[in-house]
Amino acid sequence: MATVITSECINCGACEPECPNTAIYQGGVEWELDGVKHPGIAADIFYIVPEKCTECVGFHDHEACAAVCPVDCCIPDPKIPEIEAVLLERAKALHPEQTFGADFPSRFKKEGATNGGEPTPAPASAPVPAAATKPAPAAPVASPETSVFVPEIGEWEVPIQCHHCHGAFAVEFRHFRAGVVFNCPFCNGSYVITSTMHNHIHHRLHDFHSQWRNAFETFQAKRQQELAVFEEEQKRALEEFNRSLQSDSLELKPPGAARKRAWIFG
Ligand code: SF4
Ligand code: SF4
Repeated sequence: MATVITSECINCGACEPECPNTAIYQGGVEWELDGVKHPGIAADIFYIVPEKCTECVGFHDHEACAAVCPVDCCIPDPKIPEIEAVLLERAKALHPEQTFGADFPSRFKKEGATNGGEPTPAPASAPVPAAATKPAPAAPVASPETSVFVPEIGEWEVPIQCHHCHGAFAVEFRHFRAGVVFNCPFCNGSYVITSTMHNHIHHRLHDFHSQWRNAFETFQAKRQQELAVFEEEQKRALEEFNRSLQSDSLELKPPGAARKRAWIFG
């Protein structure tokens, strides 16, 4: 998908010289392609021309504008999903003088890239406060016997404070993806999730979950060991008791039980 600049842009201009395709323009400035000029897409903030953006495919393994933006407002445009092949063709068309070998740089080739050249499904654009009001179904992470639960990572409610009205709401982490725009339930102001925000929360949740899981597993292993020792002791006590019962039965004789007669005369 093409990259887009959100309304959070502070007009610092850092991104413009980084673009290998001259796809970034200052607000109000006309953009140009093949010698033809077009009216600016945004008036007050920097903007990206989707027809010229290749998400840096062919030049970098990351979006160069997003890498330098101090406020993380260069984000994937969920409305324009594009596959790597399309972006590479665009790079070739924009730079006919250049040769792109098989090892051309691309963010799709980065370790952990998820769409490997397939169309990226548009993230659900979300007026998602619905998710905020819905109680997250709690799932035990480690032990079905414990009464302490944490939700699965995707269902974890991420708190958000609206930077327009400071209202607090929450969304499930599965919706908390880069490029998704939430609307504040109090003032309807937009709140855009950047990749930095997503990655930060992603790491926090994963770290906490693995610590939580490890703590339970360690506790359970210790408890298993203690249980095995306890059972062994109980087994020994039971065997000992049964043996003592057996010897009691040999010693205790009921009245009238046959006894060996004592013979007086030898
Ligand atoms: S993602 Fe790359 S190609 Fe697209 S606007 Fe940003 S710097 Fe330019
Ligand atoms: S780097 Fe970010 S804040 Fe600065 S002009 Fe570009 S998009 Fe706007």
